[in-house]
Amino acid sequence: MPRARQRYVLSPERLEGVHRGATIRLPKEAAHHVARVVRLREGELIAVTDGGGRSFLVRLRRVDARAVEGEVLGPEYPEGEGRDPEAPVAVDLAFALLKGDRSETVLALATEIGVRRFRPFLSARTVVRPEGEARRRREERFRAVVREAVELSGRTHLSPVEPIASFADVLASFSSYAAVFVPYELAAASHGGVYPHLLEVYRTLPPAALYGPLLLVIGPEGGFAPEEAEAARHAGAHLVSLGPRILRSETAAVYAVSLLLSEEAFLSARPSGEVS
Ligand code: SAM
Repeated sequence: MPRARQRYVLSPERLEGVHRGATIRLPKEAAHHVARVVRLREGELIAVTDGGGRSFLVRLRRVDARAVEGEVLGPEYPEGEGRDPEAPVAVDLAFALLKGDRSETVLALATEIGVRRFRPFLSARTVVRPEGEARRRREERFRAVVREAVELSGRTHLSPVEPIASFADVLASFSSYAAVFVPYELAAASHGGVYPHLLEVYRTLPPAALYGPLLLVIGPEGGFAPEEAEAARHAGAHLVSLGPRILRSETAAVYAVSLLLSEEAFLSARPSGEVS
């Protein structure tokens, strides 16, 4: 199946009832990108997704200053071709806001890897604490970064980015997950100085929990306060290690997500090893 040169997330309404042979008109922003930025021509292929799991291959039939339209050729990932870009395991990522554009790095990379939902939060040692309009703009920026990563990575699910919450809000949501993992590098000596590794704990989950929904909670540059780690454990989270090296928050987030969304983790945890 030929591949699209570019991909665009469109509103679900715009793709309502779309079928093979239908003509779709791109919204202004996507049309501008096609015609003026990447300068695609009639006859070339793009893909459009509603961000809710549906995506279509589209052949451009009109590209001019007034409009960009195309003909729907069919699903971008035809049934049975085994190319579904979405991960079999539902993993949400809660992360403490980071300095500079490091939160955006986490969002972009973790989206490409397949995270289902993002939950930014402020913890005791979070340095960046945007308020009011600054907070709203930051949340909007986060959503734009995720959208771009969905378009680039070929995904059909637009991972929602929740409003920036408190650590207490994140704790309160633990019960809605099959398992919660809090990577915490400061294990008390009573734990032999280290907690069990993330994958070790994942593999001990009951089969039904292996598909998730799972929640990963990553701390800020200064780490979790001991009382936060204790509160998380008390609320039912697994405190886990990511190994003997201390990783930056963004490294820890991407590394932990990669581990949980890797086929190996899933295959090795499945009792019979089947993936379906
Ligand atoms: N505690 C150190 C500090 O105060 O500078 C480092 C915190 S680390 C930069 C940020 C976050 O990454 C931690 O809160 C934890 O979630 C995660 N992390 C980093 N390395 C880890 C490891 N080896 N095991 C478990 N979690 C780790």
